[in-house]
Amino acid sequence: MLAARFDGNKRIAIAEVPAPRPAPNEVLLRVKRTALCGSDTKLWNKGAVFTPGHEIFGVVDSPGHVLDGRRCLVYIPVHCGRCVSCLHGDTHMCLTESVLIGWNRPGGYAEALAVPEQCLLPVPDDVPDDLAPLLLDTIGTSGHGLRLARPLAPEGPVLVLGAGPVGLGAIVALRDMGWRDIHVSDLRAARLPLAQALGARPHPVEDTTTRFALVAECSGAHAARNRGMHIVAPRGVVLLLGENDDPWTIE
Ligand SMILES: [Zn+2]
Ligand SMILES: [Zn+2]
Repeated sequence: MLAARFDGNKRIAIAEVPAPRPAPNEVLLRVKRTALCGSDTKLWNKGAVFTPGHEIFGVVDSPGHVLDGRRCLVYIPVHCGRCVSCLHGDTHMCLTESVLIGWNRPGGYAEALAVPEQCLLPVPDDVPDDLAPLLLDTIGTSGHGLRLARPLAPEGPVLVLGAGPVGLGAIVALRDMGWRDIHVSDLRAARLPLAQALGARPHPVEDTTTRFALVAECSGAHAARNRGMHIVAPRGVVLLLGENDDPWTIE
């Protein structure tokens, strides 16, 4: 089969590679869509030689399996299902497995891949192929964080910092959860119209007078995290959804 492989030195090769051979308790997934993700650039910049891709959507091709022929997304943390974390539903924090599909084993920039059956998420028929991958990093990440934050945050306005994919997903998830007074800030003004179309009101980046019950920080920038700490209302919540590997000092 063909795969798009990072080939080191910032090159991508479309290469003929051996077809995946699913292990016991795994299925073959024929890829229909794999979304590009900004975090793939970490592997790219490191010069990894690897087939990445972790926002994966496809159709199960394992005759006899209960999900054969079903459209499925891939939940990328491989997990044991038996440890204390897994039994509590925190399968992303499994105590015995720390493998991510598309990071530590081959990902979805290929015609097919082997997927542990525990990582299959069937997709409802009314979600089109092009939109299905958005249920993972874009809406899944933000929705998961907001679901944890919601019971802690008081009533009031909410601010989304950063109108990239995760920020836009946060706006969609916030609306779905019933938040109505949603604001958004981004240094890049060109990003705001889409956020507005999804139901958020632009908020000036430099404004520090309005306090927010919930600040959903989706950029990962330390400056934005610090700002969130300053403008959150008493008893409010700052939710850090944006990724950043560099140490962050809270003053
Ligand atoms: Zn991603
Ligand atoms: Zn586990």
